Amino acid sequence: MNNNGILVVISGFSGAGKGTLVKKLLADYDNYALSISMTTRKSREGEEDGVHYFFVDHEKFEKTIAEDGLLEYASYCGNYYGTPKAYVEEMISKGKDVILEIEVQGALQIKKKYPNSLLLFVTPPSAQNLYDRLKGRNTETEEQINKRISRAVEEADWIEKYDFLVINDTLDECVKNLNDMITAAHYSPDRQQELIHKLKEDLDLISKGE
Ligand code: 5GP
Repeated sequence: MNNNGILVVISGFSGAGKGTLVKKLLADYDNYALSISMTTRKSREGEEDGVHYFFVDHEKFEKTIAEDGLLEYASYCGNYYGTPKAYVEEMISKGKDVILEIEVQGALQIKKKYPNSLLLFVTPPSAQNLYDRLKGRNTETEEQINKRISRAVEEADWIEKYDFLVINDTLDECVKNLNDMITAAHYSPDRQQELIHKLKEDLDLISKGE
């Protein structure tokens, strides 16, 4: 059994409830580690540096890119977002499944670099539900909401690149489904190459009577 963790990318429309889902996944199960992204976006009320994001200026972000310190990065609604490399690599080697909550451009960069990563896309049950959630959280202006909805229209074209859809209807059920998908992914043959190789070698030996 391969003991390395899986790189789990969770994307979804802004307002689809990714944050709440991920928070509950981490609270309910202990085999996950959450990557904290770096961003040039200003912090929202209640967000803490080093907890929700590492909030940095453009200069620091670009320096980190130049030092090859990010696994991926992208620009989203006028700001940079990126995944610091060191923490992810450490946790994967310790056998943790590492959650990256990132948008589609970053997700596709990850899949290209790490074909064994698992790409999950969170969607609300309907478009109206998405709009209502964005309005309801009261953290963006109408203009920002419209920007995020336009972005969702673009992102919808990329859904089919993902491995599984996570439909966020009932929270508890959704978190359980999410954990089941990740658990199942550990048993796909492409993530069990070592075991398969050993099985083949040993079968060969046994078949020759050794
Ligand atoms: P928000 O501003 O709402 O916190 O995040 C905006 C978008 O950026 C969300 O879709 C979020 O998943 C994405 N995002 C957050 N961190 C990263 C990151 O490190 N890399 C990429 N590519 N996207 C990120």
